[in-house]
Amino acid sequence: MVASGRRQENRRLLTKIAQGGRDPALTGPFVNPPVVHASTVLFGDVDSMRPGGQPYVYGRIGTPTTEALESAITELEGAESTVICPSGLGAISAALLALLSSGDHLLMADNVYDPARTLATTLLARMGVETTFFDPTIGAGIESLMRETTRVVYLESPGSLTFEMTDIPAIASVAHARGALVVADNTWATPYFCRPLALGADVSLMAGTKYIGGHSDVMIGTVAAAPSAFARIREAYVTLGLCVGPDDIFLALRGLRTLGVRLEHHMRSGLAVARHLAGRPEVAAVLHPALPDHPGHALFERDMDGASGLFGVVLDGWSREKTNAFLEALSIFSLGYSWGGFESLAIPARLNRTATRWDAAGPLIRLHVGLEDTEDLIADLDAAFARVDNLA
Ligand SMILES: *Cc1c(COP(=O)(O)O)cnc(C)c1O
Repeated sequence: MVASGRRQENRRLLTKIAQGGRDPALTGPFVNPPVVHASTVLFGDVDSMRPGGQPYVYGRIGTPTTEALESAITELEGAESTVICPSGLGAISAALLALLSSGDHLLMADNVYDPARTLATTLLARMGVETTFFDPTIGAGIESLMRETTRVVYLESPGSLTFEMTDIPAIASVAHARGALVVADNTWATPYFCRPLALGADVSLMAGTKYIGGHSDVMIGTVAAAPSAFARIREAYVTLGLCVGPDDIFLALRGLRTLGVRLEHHMRSGLAVARHLAGRPEVAAVLHPALPDHPGHALFERDMDGASGLFGVVLDGWSREKTNAFLEALSIFSLGYSWGGFESLAIPARLNRTATRWDAAGPLIRLHVGLEDTEDLIADLDAAFARVDNLA
């Protein structure tokens, strides 16, 4: 699917995933870092209390537990540094609050995670930041939307409901020429399959809640930044008082250690399910960037080493009622927001777009293919198709 040299490069990440953040100075003889519950940190003398006087000064500012996850993500994303946020949305808001000021203009792709849009149209708008939404497939055409005041281009490739791919290198080269920074939501691919900073983005953020945690039991976000953005991200992080408890960081770090093997399985099984669905007469389109007929497939091949387990399915001319009945007829796929855990999930997609029109042959659903047996998942979908066959 992807050139074999690239896949080989990708497998080397397995070693980084196993070793990242394991500094013996933090862990001692143990494999994993201590789970440090701390507010107060003690100093031996007054001189150590000056800035930079000792490595740890206060629980909120960082502990050996935080540092282990930060440095593992930094290494995987190829970043200058990383901050860990209380959720994926917290990572988005921290990054945008760090990089935008009153009077600035933000360009945001039309297909991004909807709460990112809400942040732009409420809090950021009230602070005097103006947002223009853009067609995620615009590429170098973003030039026509750039203003003197444009400071950030925010994108998510592929968008996690409609799966258009965005040309990060083309957008980054236009943005950088105009003095703007590029922020990419990398939740779908994770650094195992895509490194947005290497493609030209200045910030790569993730909902670690999804594939990093991987077990549907932790809310966490990561913001990995290049030197062009890091100082402002760190300043906002400390100033806003963001921090994450050590138990949640531990869960994320524990999840991270199996990221590669889980994603390889999500990719294989997700593609098998996607190909099966593409052959069903009820399905008008399967929105999966790794399938050759996907409009973003060439960008996917160029920029990514593989695909995760999340994709969209357009049901041909179905009514909303029939779609809902289908979703409720599934028994291994459960109804639930979020994704990236070990379990399969399905949702009806509700789209909120303003810059582009979504024209599809029917309602869109989104599937997350988990780690269950692929044949069981396919049988579950086929049984649900049979159950709703007589519905209008
Ligand atoms: C879920 C999600 C987020 C937000 O993550 P939370 O941890 O739920 O706040 C951000 N971006 C994408 C693409 C997501 O799917």
